[in-house]
Amino acid sequence: MFSMKCPQCGAESKFSFVNNSYEGPRRCWSCRGLFKLKIANNVLMYCEPITEEEFKQLQEINELKSKFRNDLSE
Ligand SMILES: [Zn+2]
Repeated sequence: MFSMKCPQCGAESKFSFVNNSYEGPRRCWSCRGLFKLKIANNVLMYCEPITEEEFKQLQEINELKSKFRNDLSE
């Protein structure tokens, strides 16, 4: 379980992901701020604010990626 503070409002959020790594979009539950972040080996590499449009694009990319992974494992 990884916990991080929102750079915008300081609200703490916890989430879990596979392989201790995550790269993608995230919305703050408190201020609704949108961010693009990357975590590698439970270390936050970067977290930068993005626009609503970028957020949607990143979500689509992530969905495509997981579809691709599913296809490979079948
Ligand atoms: Zn926030």
